[in-house]
Formats: sequence, C-alpha cells, structure tokens
Amino acid sequence: MIERAPRIADVGSGLVLYPNGIKAADAVSAQLGERIRAAGYVPRPSDARPLVAPDGTVLSNDPIGGLDARFGAPQVSLLRSALYRALQATTGDAELVTGTEVVGHTDDGDRVRVKLSTGDSVEADVLVGADGVNSRTRRQVFDDGAPVYRGYTSLRGRSSTPVEFPHGFTVAGDGIDLFVAPVGGGRVYWTAKVVAEQGHWPDLGVDIALAALLRKIRDWHRPIVDMIRRTDKQAGIVVTDICDRDPTDHWAKGRVVLIGDAAHPMSPAMGQGASMAIEDAAELSAVLNTLPGNVPGALAEFCAERAPRTSEIVLESRRKGGVDSRALRGADVRARTANEFTTQDERLTSLFGWQPRVRGG
Ligand SMILES: Cc1cc2nc3c(=O)[nH]c(=O)nc-3n(C[C@H](O)[C@H](O)[C@H](O)COP(=O)(O)OP(=O)(O)OC[C@H]3O[C@@H](n4cnc5c(N)ncnc54)[C@H](O)[C@@H]3O)c2cc1C
Repeated sequence: MIERAPRIADVGSGLVLYPNGIKAADAVSAQLGERIRAAGYVPRPSDARPLVAPDGTVLSNDPIGGLDARFGAPQVSLLRSALYRALQATTGDAELVTGTEVVGHTDDGDRVRVKLSTGDSVEADVLVGADGVNSRTRRQVFDDGAPVYRGYTSLRGRSSTPVEFPHGFTVAGDGIDLFVAPVGGGRVYWTAKVVAEQGHWPDLGVDIALAALLRKIRDWHRPIVDMIRRTDKQAGIVVTDICDRDPTDHWAKGRVVLIGDAAHPMSPAMGQGASMAIEDAAELSAVLNTLPGNVPGALAEFCAERAPRTSEIVLESRRKGGVDSRALRGADVRARTANEFTTQDERLTSLFGWQPRVRGG
C-alpha cells in the first residue's frame, strides 16, 4: 500500500460508519469490525440524537440505538485517526509505505508497473486506485475532468462534549448546518456545512475560517458556541469544498480499478462515503478470490455489481445536500422533520440492510 501522507498521525476530525459499513468491515476481517467498534462510540439501544434549533430547542429526535438488532451491526462514530489505526492493525502482511506518492502506472496486460515519487517502481497483478476524490489514477485511466462543486463547504474539527446532548446532535441554522457526534473519551467531532461560493472558505486558512465560523454562530445556544471555541487546534481543522461526480460504472480498465471516492465521490449528506469505500474493499476482495486467474473479468464483475448501489447513493446524497442547502438558506428549517434524519426511514432499510458476499474470518 502506497500512501503519500508522511505518517498516520492522530489528527483530523471524525466520521460515522453506519451498519452497512460496519458489516463490510466485518467481512474484510472480523478483527477489523471489532477494532472499529472498540475504537469509537457505539450507541446504546435507547440513545437518540436530537435535531436542535440554534437556540438549543429540540425539534426532533433521531433514534440511533437499536440498529444492531435491526440491521446486524450498530452505527459507530469515531476519529478518522482511530479508523486508520484499526485498518493498519488489520493489514496483516501487507506493507504500508508512507510519504510516497503514486505518480503513474503502465499496464502491459500481464502485470501493472506503478511508478513512485521516490523514482522506484513496484509491480503487481492489479492496481487498486483508492486515492480519493481527486484521484490521480482516475485522471490517468479515464481523464474525465474534475469533480463538481455542490454549493457548500465543510469545516471539521474535534472538541469536548457539551453536557446536554451526550449522544451528539444536529443544528439546523440559517446558512449553516452543524453535526456533532461523540467519539469516546469525552470527546466529540463536529462538521459545519456552510453555503458558500467555491473556494471562499478554503482560501481563508484554518484560523481565520474558525474565527469566521464562530462569528456566524455567535448568537447560538452558548454551550454549542463554547464547544466550537474549545476546538482542539493541535488536532487540526479541515476545510473542504464539497464536490461529487455524476455516477458511472467506468472504474476499471485492464488490471486497474478505482474504489471509494476515486470511483464514486459523493457529498456527505448521508454520511456514506467511507462505508461505501469499505463495502467496495470487501466486494473487490471477494470477486478477486472468486476469479483469481482472470483479473480483468473480476474487475468488470466488480463494477457491474457495485455501480447500481453506489450510483443511487451518490444521487440521493446530492439531492439531500441540495435540500439541506435550501433549508440552510432559511427557507423552512423546521420542515426538516425527523424523517430527514431518522433511522426509521424506509430508504435506510435497503441502505443499512446490505449484506456482504463473504463473511470475514
Ligand atoms: C465533511 C465530510 C464529512 C463526511 N462524513 C462522513 C461520515 O460521517 N461517514 C462516512 O462514511 N463518510 C463520510 N465522509 C466521506 C468520507 O470521508 C470519504 O468518502 C472517504 O474518506 C473515502 O475514502 P477513500 O479511501 O476512498 O478516500 P480518502 O479518504 O480521500 O483517502 C485517499 C488516500 O489516498 C491518498 N492519496 C491520494 N493521492 C495519492 C497518490 N497519488 N499517491 C499515494 N497516496 C495518495 C491520500 O493521502 C489519502 O490518504 C465525509 C466527507 C466529508 C467531506
């Protein structure tokens, strides 16, 4: 595995893995699923996560517990660094080379030669491009342009828990949407989505961006403002313009395949991007094991199998992000009823009810 980041450090915000993502991790390896559960916050059956107004009034409650009984796995909120550590501890014999960038590849039909920023190259039966929304591998293989900005920016950080909403909460503000979830050890991570022109927030730099966010929410419920003010700056604040791509199933050519955001980047409105990436990993490994002597055939089967599900979620996330953006402009914040957030939503049955082909050992 080649990773351009210099090391896997304890920085960055958090994320939620939903039951389908946890079942996918279980399918990759039972130890991975266990490590993720142990590293994060697993709701108890009666836990609920409120949607609150900026003044702290609870508008509705999203029942987040009990998913295990209904779908065979819980949702888990955890730090990204904790997820990386769980993945790293589970990679077995696979070597992780950090501080090294993949700069290109050649596929001669029998093997793929991957060129590295160090000047070295490595050879493999298959190249899996898991290199994110701005995938270099995608650019080389498909050259299909840049991802498209979807009208809002996210700011993310970590802080300590406000007392009133120990299981996390969402705030529907005017032009800003804030999501907060516990990650264990009395800490929370937060994500603020702000309607903005492309490039505006990233260009501010993180310190000015945090100060600007605090100015925007200065009239909000005091404990919420204090929680954002107590953001752990050492762990970093991440500012990202939200982009996605129109769905396709063109993720494979010869012995090269894309997975995760490289294949199907999606806006974070449904919180499914990482779960989809782990589902991809579980399914790709199952397909390659089924057709070991036919890599191009296995990759084509992988694309055909994964495209319908991921395409639906890309479009649903885009639609939901658009709805959020309109509500964020103040149109009708209170119309965002429990149904927008609730885990009882019918659509979530097909989302969370996903089953892997093969269970992990
Ligand atoms: C605001 C926000 C909130 C989100 N919340 C959630 C959530 O709650 N739940 C969820 O499931 N998803 C969430 N997501 C989506 C999720 O973060 C992504 O879908 C997920 O990280 C995709 O994983 P990936 O491995 O495909 O790509 P990435 O996580 O982007 O990883 C790509 C890796 O490849 C490396 N890399 C890139 N180029 C090269 C190169 N040339 N050579 C070597 N290494 C390279 C990068 O350094 C990086 O480590 C959120 C996203 C955003 C923006």
